[in-house]
Amino acid sequence: MNDFSGITVALSKGRIFEETLPLLAAADIVPAEDPEQSRKLIIATNRSDVRVVIVRASDVPTYVQYGAADLGIAGKDVLLEHDGVGIYQPLDLKIASCRMCVAVPAGFDYTSYVQRGARLKVATKYINTAREHFAAKGVHVDLIKLYGSMELAPLAGLADAIVDVVSSGSTLKANHLVAVEDICNISARLIVNQAALKMKRELLQPVIEAFAKVVK
Ligand code: ADP
Ligand code: MG
Repeated sequence: MNDFSGITVALSKGRIFEETLPLLAAADIVPAEDPEQSRKLIIATNRSDVRVVIVRASDVPTYVQYGAADLGIAGKDVLLEHDGVGIYQPLDLKIASCRMCVAVPAGFDYTSYVQRGARLKVATKYINTAREHFAAKGVHVDLIKLYGSMELAPLAGLADAIVDVVSSGSTLKANHLVAVEDICNISARLIVNQAALKMKRELLQPVIEAFAKVVK
């Protein structure tokens, strides 16, 4: 557990940070700096008992799991790739909404490729999600782990298909890819360290309740 006696909230920069600001405001938490402007990784707030730590989106569950952060906000996509041990997931915040999809180059006949039983090369950062999806469909796949820019993989000849999150579809379109299968809906979730929830309940409960009220 971290030695800050207040609440440490783990957030990622960009979309999650922006869309979390109104939720934090409802709990009377206003970060003192914008992480896009500042290089600081620990950001104070208007409340001396609350601080924010800025981490990579995929690292948020890890900070919360080990208690380095008491609370965090993480996409369901990220949580599906994490074992979730020691993490309580009380709320769907309905922010950063998108879909997890299978996408292929326009013109690639995915359906007949799969029906033929051919092995599909799939590039993704969502290895667990992809493995489960294709296993459930009985499709044989070679999974190739990437850390970003999945759209490039089919264009460069690294893979036949990708598994990625899609919202407007404009990135797929710009790279001549089409979504051929929806895997699941994605949105950001509040996550809480289970031990902190017991030991810092008086501090954490009002924040969780304030978030819940906004989401309703
Ligand atoms: P990173 O590039 O480090 O993965 P992003 O800011 O792109 O970080 O994504 C953070 C989270 O926002 C993702 O884990 C996902 O839950 C969500 N997300 C990603 N892409 C989109 C999108 N196009 N529309 C809505 N939410 C998205
Ligand atoms: Mg991104």
